[in-house]
Order: sequence, then C-alpha cells, then structure tokens
Amino acid sequence: MEPLAPLPRDILGAGTAILAGLALDVEEEVLASLKGVVVRSPFRNMVTPSGFRMSVAMSNCGSLGWVTDRTGYRYDGIDPEVNRPWATMPTAFRELAVSAAREAGFPNFVPDACLINRYEPGTRLSLHQDKNESDFTQPIVSVSLGLPATFLFGGLERRDKTQRIQVIHGDVLVWGGPARLRYHALRR
Ligand code: FE
Repeated sequence: MEPLAPLPRDILGAGTAILAGLALDVEEEVLASLKGVVVRSPFRNMVTPSGFRMSVAMSNCGSLGWVTDRTGYRYDGIDPEVNRPWATMPTAFRELAVSAAREAGFPNFVPDACLINRYEPGTRLSLHQDKNESDFTQPIVSVSLGLPATFLFGGLERRDKTQRIQVIHGDVLVWGGPARLRYHALRR
C-alpha cells in the first residue's frame, strides 16, 4: 500500500506531526524483530506507584527501558522481570524512529529507549506526559501497529482540551520541541 502524504502539521501545532503510513514499508522487519524483543523481555502488566495494575502490557528494547513499580516510574538498563538487560534496539526500529523524527523536523534524534505498549480491546492509557526522560530536546516517536485506536493529544497542562487522532496500522506520531511535554492518552 502506498503511504499517505503527511497531514498538514499546523493541524496539531508546532512540534507535532502525524506521518500516516510511514511504518508500512518496514512493517515486516519491525514485526519480525519485535518477536525477538518480547522473547527476551516478555510483555507484562506493570504496577503504578499507587498500586494500580496497568491494563496495557509493556516491554522495552534499547539500552534503557521505562518501568514502573511501587517505588515509582524510572528508566532502567535492566529488565527487573528477568533481571538482565533489555534486547538491543533492532536496526529496523532505530531507522524508522530516526527517519520519522527527521520528517517531523528533528534531524538529530538518537533513540536509546523504546517502550512497547500492547493494547487489547478494552485497554487504555490515561492522560499523561512523557517526562521521565533526561533529555527533552529529543522528540517522542510513537509507532502504531495492529488495530486502529484513538489517540488523544492534549496541551502542556492537564486541563487543556484534547484533540482526537484516529491512528491505524503503520501510522507514526512525533512530538518534540515545543510539543515535547504535551499530555496524551489512548482511549479505551
Ligand atoms: Fe506517553
């Protein structure tokens, strides 16, 4: 399938881009390498600091992975579930992230962590900012694979109005620069 042209960036504001279908060209490599990643670090439902078991199942690859437990949120070089480092970030992941970031106006992206969220029907991710990273000059690149979903983009304050984005298989969202700390969520 021919990837669709990127939507006009001003729809979402400075620093945010929807790159529709950008992952379609590399989906086979990405899905094949994803299998290896989750053999090493299987999907698990992590617990938030307040004791809530997340409905989204997660894994990671790269030199650091995002984790949560009763002690808080953090990036960790060791997968605490299996007590060894996460899988190396597959080349297909890294190249897709770098090219998406470049398309979105962030030519110097060096991804070192990739959180993998597995949503099933009925799961959701509540409104949050990605703020456990140490370098906010680097953008967030989010790749959607599988079922369609509704992504919500808010503003820099929790109370700001959200914009609804339908994401489908192969879509890539990027937010960085002035948009780096935008609130976002995945609807049930
Ligand atoms: Fe997030």
